[in-house]
Amino acid sequence: MARPEILMILKQGIRFEPMSASERREPFAVVRCPGCKGAGAIDTDQYQGKVSIDCDNADCDYHETHDLRVAV
Ligand SMILES: [Zn+2]
Repeated sequence: MARPEILMILKQGIRFEPMSASERREPFAVVRCPGCKGAGAIDTDQYQGKVSIDCDNADCDYHETHDLRVAV
């Protein structure tokens, strides 16, 4: 399926490495789910494609991994 659309970057200009485990889990960006079109926050691991993005909406089964740093 499609990549989530980035609506807003919450942390501009951060360096991804080195980063502590707690920093990696902080909200990094707000994206729009391609499945249900709902907005949700993702952390840095999800933004970098290290961890899958699982939509918060109970009615939506979107669950995919994408490296959102790279333009397609
Ligand atoms: Zn969704």
